[in-house]
Amino acid sequence: MRQIIIIGSGPAGYTAAIYASRAGLEPLLLASSVESGGELMNTTEVENFPGFPEGIQGPELMDKLQEQAEKFGTTVAYDDVTELDVSGDVKKVTLGNGETHEAHAVIFATGSAYRKLGLADEERLSGHGVSWCATCDGFFFKEKTIAVVGGGDSAMEEATFLTRFASKVYVIHRKDTLRASKIMQQRAFDNEKIEFVWNSEVVGISGEDAVTGVTLRNTTDGTESNLDIQGLFVAIGNDPRTHLVHGKLDLTPEGTIAVDGRSSKTSVSGVFAAGDVIDPTYRQAVTAAASGTVAALDAEHYLAALGE
Ligand SMILES: Cc1cc2nc3c(=O)[nH]c(=O)nc-3n(C[C@H](O)[C@H](O)[C@H](O)COP(=O)(O)OP(=O)(O)OC[C@H]3O[C@@H](n4cnc5c(N)ncnc54)[C@H](O)[C@@H]3O)c2cc1C
Repeated sequence: MRQIIIIGSGPAGYTAAIYASRAGLEPLLLASSVESGGELMNTTEVENFPGFPEGIQGPELMDKLQEQAEKFGTTVAYDDVTELDVSGDVKKVTLGNGETHEAHAVIFATGSAYRKLGLADEERLSGHGVSWCATCDGFFFKEKTIAVVGGGDSAMEEATFLTRFASKVYVIHRKDTLRASKIMQQRAFDNEKIEFVWNSEVVGISGEDAVTGVTLRNTTDGTESNLDIQGLFVAIGNDPRTHLVHGKLDLTPEGTIAVDGRSSKTSVSGVFAAGDVIDPTYRQAVTAAASGTVAALDAEHYLAALGE
């Protein structure tokens, strides 16, 4: 039996692994079969992770985190957790290959997924003009014409924030009214760089190596038109990856795993959670990493109290 199993291979999981392995806990980290490395594997340049003044490619950063975790004794397994039994003192984690691993403590760091438009070129142009995170990528769009898709608070916030960089920001929305709160709407309406494109959905993204435009379909009459842009920010929601713990751990109204105050302690003793799966607000690599630290330290104290 292990002392600790970490589920998830993003910045939260690997940082938890670095701390846990340096504490001599020899963690097993379950990295997923096809999506190991987390969300940063889908991006190119990361310029806001401290310690890399020149910036670093997302996949390279994740390789380094993995290398650092393995250096101190983390075992990484490339499989998906398909079942989690946290009902007893011994936690049971079952993998896609059928194996079940046991541990006294589990850190759950499965991240969250930005909702996608579901278009063929969306993944291909991710990091080349298509983005889900204005805080992460806004800086790359200085004096560019860009668009934000969505009608909620986060779309308004992203659009307003992006006007700091872009010369023009279209907000593309399927309806002719917004879901966003009145104050967020007003802020966007008052911003002279923002122009709303109502009753429209994006049905195509064009560009060979970088985004050059989108095809829009009018939701009322079905007509199609093209809009020339150099960046497309998709702000249509985010889903924490919690399906494994539904009915097992308490969730917040936002759908993230509920933790006790600033700790990583979930509603079940011995189960800790970290990163975007507990964070409805910040969702950055460095906040996820910090949260992984908290989880490892909480787990360490828990195991020490058990006498493990
Ligand atoms: C395109 C893009 C660009 C971004 N750019 C930046 C940036 O420049 N700077 C920045 O700070 N942030 C950026 N972010 C946000 C950042 O990537 C996230 O905040 C961060 O990765 C969250 O880390 P995490 O460890 O919580 O989760 P994730 O990175 O999402 O990792 C979770 C991992 O858990 C795995 N997992 C899930 N379920 C299971 C399971 N059942 N079994 C095994 N494994 C499982 C997933 O496959 C994934 O590998 C970007 C995000 C995106 C999508």
